[in-house]
Amino acid sequence: MFIVDAHEDIAWSSLTFGRDYTLPAAALRQRESGTEAPFHNGEALLGWADWLLGRVAIAFASLFAAPVRRQAGPWDVLCYRDADEARRLYLQQLDFYHQWAEDHPEKFHLIQGRDDLEQVLLGWEQEDVRRHRLGLVLMMEGAEALRAVEEIEEWAAQGVRIVAPCWAGTRYAGGTGEPGPLTDDGRALLAAMADLGLILDLTHMDEEAALQALDRYPGAVIASHTNPAALGYSTYPNRHLSDHAIRRLAEHDGVLGIVPYNRFLREGWRRGDARLPLDAVVAHVDYVCQLVGDAAHVGLGSDFDGGFGLDCIPAGLDSIADLRLIGEALMACGFRQTDVEAVLGGNWLRLLRKALPET
Ligand SMILES: [Zn+2]
Repeated sequence: MFIVDAHEDIAWSSLTFGRDYTLPAAALRQRESGTEAPFHNGEALLGWADWLLGRVAIAFASLFAAPVRRQAGPWDVLCYRDADEARRLYLQQLDFYHQWAEDHPEKFHLIQGRDDLEQVLLGWEQEDVRRHRLGLVLMMEGAEALRAVEEIEEWAAQGVRIVAPCWAGTRYAGGTGEPGPLTDDGRALLAAMADLGLILDLTHMDEEAALQALDRYPGAVIASHTNPAALGYSTYPNRHLSDHAIRRLAEHDGVLGIVPYNRFLREGWRRGDARLPLDAVVAHVDYVCQLVGDAAHVGLGSDFDGGFGLDCIPAGLDSIADLRLIGEALMACGFRQTDVEAVLGGNWLRLLRKALPET
């Protein structure tokens, strides 16, 4: 058994806070104690030892920067004013992952095709932990780094396999806090992505745009780190997906990754409040299962270290090593073993096996 986590902002967090994720999360916390990083991004949840202990075989690793109009403070350094700046920041993160995999081939492996995927999984089937590596599937979160739609080809050639057209609104579609439909550029981007066989990520897309995208995208569609809107969180009313959109995603054989972030799990939860019980995550997973009629279209997309840390995740989880405890909580609530395995990783694997190019 291993886990697939559909969203980790590894490069963003490494470059913003200088975190060295080859260290364990506990070491990063120690290093950062007394600094500003835990205040802005919470205490670290990711780290090599933690991925290893938690049997996290694959993470969808983001390239992410924000537009300056959404800059959270002077510490939030990876922000762009225009497409040229966005491109520079996203390229820096692309380089980060390539360099990381090159510097630590025994730890990290870029998954560009099915061969890479099976190689990484084969390693996890060995008892020897030295064979266990974290497979990284690169995703572009927010497509403003594309100065022109055709440039997507360049990014695909460099290993990007998943594209989320939005974070905030972009010229491609309405996004979180900035509603709106798919634009002409958005339609052109989807067509180019489909030609390249890329996976479309609806996360951060406004519902209207997400439904339009579901109508027209012929390839694989996911919502890598999105919760059911019906269960709360209205700070940005369009951050999560409606029942209708989730059903449509499931009809497309897509998968939705639940974020175990207290603010997304319960309406009104604020940083500083008591951490929620793990059952809050179970409730979101179960909700999607009931809604679509099976356990085949929901997984996990932790979003760990992408803006929050230890104090903002459910009690009982201490780091990425503990995602498996969500499986135990599901079992305790009556989920069958096969369904738990599907939720923890099987559903994402099915999708990757179908959507990734052969090599
Ligand atoms: Zn995100």
